Amino acid sequence: MTDRKRPVETQVPPTHRMHPGDEAPPGTPGTGEGLCPICQGSGRLNGDRCESCGGTGRVIQGIGGA
Ligand SMILES: [Zn+2]
Repeated sequence: MTDRKRPVETQVPPTHRMHPGDEAPPGTPGTGEGLCPICQGSGRLNGDRCESCGGTGRVIQGIGGA
């Protein structure tokens, strides 16, 4: 049995990766982290990783007021 490592998909740090539930890239003015509305911050959905937040339980959302 070969012990193959999974190929590195990206060198981008997790904090710079966007998920389907993110409204904007991290660090965008007027946005901030919020609980994922899909999984309610659990990072899991029906036993699987929540695709919306990538399993982090948080998504980037626009902050109202400004
Ligand atoms: Zn989620």
